[in-house]
Amino acid sequence: MTTQSAPLFTATILGSPRVGPNRELKRAVEKYWSKKMDRAELEAVAATLRGDTVRHLADAGADSIPVNTFSYYDHMLDQSVLLGALPPRVAGVRDDLDRYFAAARGGTYDGVDVAPLEMTKWFDTNYHYIVPEIGPNTAFTLNPAKLLAELDEATAVDVPLRPVVVGPITYLALSKAVDGAGAPIERLDELVDVYAELLELLAERGIGWVQIDEPILVTDDVDDVGALAETTYARLGALSHRPAIFVATYFGQLTDALPALARTPVEAIGIDAVDGSVDAVAAVPELAEKTVVAGVVDGRNIWRTDLESALATLATLVGPAGRVVVSTSCSTLHVPYSLEPETDLDEALRSWLAFGAEKVAEVVTLAKGLAQGRAAIASEIENSNAAAASRKVDPRLNNTDIRSRLDDIRVAGASGRGIAADRRTAQQERLNLPTLPTTTIGSYPQTTEIRLARADLRAGRIDEAQYEQKMKDEVAAVIALQEELGIDVLVHGEPERNDMVQYFAEQLEGFFATQNGWVQSYGSRCVRPPILYGDVARPRPMTVEWAAYAQSLTAKPVKGMLTGPVTILAWSFVRDDQPLADTAAQVALAIRDETVDLEKAGIAIIQVDEPALRELLPLRSKEKKDYLAWSVEAFRLATAGVRDDTQVHTHLCYSEFGEVIGAIADLDADVTSIEAARSHMEVLTDLNAVGFSNGVGPGVYDIHSPRVPTTQEMIVALREALEAVPAERLWVNPDCGLKTRRTDEVIESLRNMVEAATAVRAER
Ligand code: GLN
Ligand code: ZN
Repeated sequence: MTTQSAPLFTATILGSPRVGPNRELKRAVEKYWSKKMDRAELEAVAATLRGDTVRHLADAGADSIPVNTFSYYDHMLDQSVLLGALPPRVAGVRDDLDRYFAAARGGTYDGVDVAPLEMTKWFDTNYHYIVPEIGPNTAFTLNPAKLLAELDEATAVDVPLRPVVVGPITYLALSKAVDGAGAPIERLDELVDVYAELLELLAERGIGWVQIDEPILVTDDVDDVGALAETTYARLGALSHRPAIFVATYFGQLTDALPALARTPVEAIGIDAVDGSVDAVAAVPELAEKTVVAGVVDGRNIWRTDLESALATLATLVGPAGRVVVSTSCSTLHVPYSLEPETDLDEALRSWLAFGAEKVAEVVTLAKGLAQGRAAIASEIENSNAAAASRKVDPRLNNTDIRSRLDDIRVAGASGRGIAADRRTAQQERLNLPTLPTTTIGSYPQTTEIRLARADLRAGRIDEAQYEQKMKDEVAAVIALQEELGIDVLVHGEPERNDMVQYFAEQLEGFFATQNGWVQSYGSRCVRPPILYGDVARPRPMTVEWAAYAQSLTAKPVKGMLTGPVTILAWSFVRDDQPLADTAAQVALAIRDETVDLEKAGIAIIQVDEPALRELLPLRSKEKKDYLAWSVEAFRLATAGVRDDTQVHTHLCYSEFGEVIGAIADLDADVTSIEAARSHMEVLTDLNAVGFSNGVGPGVYDIHSPRVPTTQEMIVALREALEAVPAERLWVNPDCGLKTRRTDEVIESLRNMVEAATAVRAER
């Protein structure tokens, strides 16, 4: 097939969810891992899910269907397989599927231990991808078996199939160099050869279109991104035998890369019209010869599209763009399958939402409106307008009490406490802690018993009171354990929390917790982000009873444990009708009220976790400053309602601070616990360099591994830390919560940790 004969299309989406409407893939994969399912059964489950996805898209009216969007674990890992770029350490695993899972999760295969590849966040989403490793000996070779099999399998529908791959620039920009290799992006030329080979192969198969995803083009992470895009796609475009090329971009606005791509022979360019805008199209004359795939339907948030305004956006493209195709802004991988199972939604709320299936329908409707005129979709527009109108006037989105309280607090100067040094004196007087105080990050193991109790409660096998009693028993056990171990600042262990965001969302007004709104986070792990749709209010205390109960069992201070506003936003679907900063402030106010109630209940130390502070950092440099300003402001609003002698802690889940380091200092928490996976010294000197001078607890051991750390290695870590910060400021703690560990590991590890602290104290 030549590009001239590529069938035109009008309505598509960039990719689909793949875990299954009821997480069928998760269950099957986990069974396969535990050898309760064989490969053939797993493949059958996967084939059924893929078939359903393709059929659903065809039935809904998409006229080009993305394939190769299925994945057993992750699409970047699939791309590494496609490019023959798995690291040599997994090559010894004989079975190809096991090799794939070995790369993803590590394990012992044929008696050999294989360390997994690293995992990290996919742009600014909550999805995590497996980071490709590019070493000096990585040789790229085309390995298209999966892609071709998915093409062969999907021929039952009568709609053209469009294979989707991650583009070469994005692939290399997201890879990491290993074994002394140069920057992966230097291998671009060579890699493009493999893509050329793939395109030729697809052309031979009669494939009309290929989608090449290049989200990296909307970031500032690659130098000379325009030039790279131009040379890469000029080369691929010049192939004489290839499908039509659709370069998809998403998660933000194209700058230099848009005119650059337009100068190449590619046939179509995808633009995110939700997290970016299509305004620039008119300024690029070459686009009059191209297809612009306009992502006007939000692929990563769950709000219903305002059809009227989306149609208006599309109309502005007619003329400046040669052809206009309607699509989602990105893959709908990031939203749940369908609204259908959400039977608890009230009618108004339901009318404001669109999950994966509903988004496909919106795309098709808009394409029809674009082709046949507004009148052809008048009733759909009427419904969309009615939903938008009801959302505007719904009192739940405009809680005047909360809004005026927030204004008052801001006018009064909400975000300042007394100066840090005075606070430290007041707190020390009240708490009387030893030097190098020991503590933990909050959670203790979520044992099978705890999970069973929660399941029993849900299934009605036990009642609320019985459940609470079980959790109280657990709290008592955790307190007793910490006393026995000799820890200085105790925690209640968080047994009652299913999840650190959902737990709060379920108790706050303005949130809706879905029944079945699962979204893939990584591999087989799925999360159910709550929907933050309205003004946030706290009808009653959320944690006070637990904290007060724990405190009643001990004379040592128990830390109250809360999740911070930025993390609550980062792990929810957030309303799109006001700036994030305003929503963050409302969440902050609710948390602030909780801190005040904890203080009243006699809690002297309160920790407000912000593990997601860095996650929400915008992709474009020029937007970062504003984000850091409002996120710090929200944290301070949340934590500045307490007295100076109440100690505020925070916890951050990373040690590569990068651009957020200044913000960490600005949070002005009395004590900050952080991961210290690199060396303690480095973490602490980074903090010192930005003038951080409060308490700090660089994790003395890594909780992500089942390994029990020795006393000696933690002594070494502490001595090292003391070279960077004075003893008065140093805390001793693990690097994260203990919920994923086994109780026996935790006991041994903490015993050694306390021993290490005691030994180092004695040296002083
Ligand atoms: N307090 C939480 C816990 O210990 C913090 C979790 C986190 O850092 N993600 O589990
Ligand atoms: Zn953590």
